[in-house]
Amino acid sequence: MPKFKLEYIWLDGYTPVPNLRGKTQIKEFDSFPTLEQLPNWGFDGSSTQQAEGRSSDCVLKPVAIYPDSTRTNGAIVMCEVMMPDGVTPHPSNARATILDDPGAWFGFEQEYFLYENGRPLGFPKDGYPAPQGPYYCGAGYSAVGDVARQIVEEHLDLCLDAGINHEGINAEVAKGQWEFQIFGKGSKKCADEVWVARYILMRLCESYGLDVEFHCKPIKGDWNGSGMHCNFSTTYMRETGGKEYFEALMAQFEKNVNEHIAVYGPDNHLRLTGLHETQAIDKFSYGIADRGASIRVPHSFANNGYKGYLEDRRPNSQGDPYQIASRVLKTISEVPTP
Ligand code: ADP
Ligand code: MN
Ligand code: MN
Ligand code: MN
Repeated sequence: MPKFKLEYIWLDGYTPVPNLRGKTQIKEFDSFPTLEQLPNWGFDGSSTQQAEGRSSDCVLKPVAIYPDSTRTNGAIVMCEVMMPDGVTPHPSNARATILDDPGAWFGFEQEYFLYENGRPLGFPKDGYPAPQGPYYCGAGYSAVGDVARQIVEEHLDLCLDAGINHEGINAEVAKGQWEFQIFGKGSKKCADEVWVARYILMRLCESYGLDVEFHCKPIKGDWNGSGMHCNFSTTYMRETGGKEYFEALMAQFEKNVNEHIAVYGPDNHLRLTGLHETQAIDKFSYGIADRGASIRVPHSFANNGYKGYLEDRRPNSQGDPYQIASRVLKTISEVPTP
């Protein structure tokens, strides 16, 4: 029987942003294992801010499995962290708080910087490169450099090998800044894939001597920050919708503005300034095709009788997609549907 290398990954207890952790166990299976075949595992929670040293065991409960084409017989196993009883979610386990709904579709646009020696890849040792303008969706050495595209392409292939529903990639507005988009039917599925794609990217960059900088505003000044726009729709929004429901939904988003910002990633006041295609952090607005609004209403939505999906532009690149999806679904659930 082949021996499989199972990389169990989970989110640690650091705040405000959890880190990815992972460790490997070897198990024999006749063929690539199913989720049901995977055993729970444990780890030392006192080393990840999830337990005290005197009672340190936490449980890893597999919730999704992905082929890992970087290893022979490899798999990445996304896990939830449980209390020692194995059934109670650990307080750091935001995934367990999602009221999942297979009719809820999410698309996250993950922006990030590639970093070399504490600076964006392609920035000169001292000073700055040419101002923003040519980099967004750019081509050519002076726009995107030599190695970045290779990394981005390798990452895309590794994610596709893993069965992650990547929808696309693009060079972003700042030098050294990139984006990938992941779409999923079911909020847990989509958010799992965002975390696994982040993990694959960070691990890939190790071999290039580069870091992935997920902070939302790593460079001060006239340089775009990084977001993670959250595109969302429910069955009702896609099939029934209507202007009245849309306006009620937006009123509920406005009412919960602080609750949303609280889980949309740290330091977001540095990014949501009203400049660089953002709305200010203390304001709420929506608008058709408006990239300066909190929520952008796609033309397709307005032209289709207020049916379809909406884009919340406020979540940032360091935000936890579990917490973001959980909050969006909670606000939607507060608006009655006739
Ligand atoms: P932009 O950069 O113009 O904001 P992108 O193409 O980068 O747009 O991202 C749009 C995202 O919207 C994609 O991830 C896509 O999967 C997602 N999306 C499209 N249709 C829906 C839908 N019905 N529900 C939720 N998300 C959707
Ligand atoms: Mn995009
Ligand atoms: Mn973008
Ligand atoms: Mn967007």
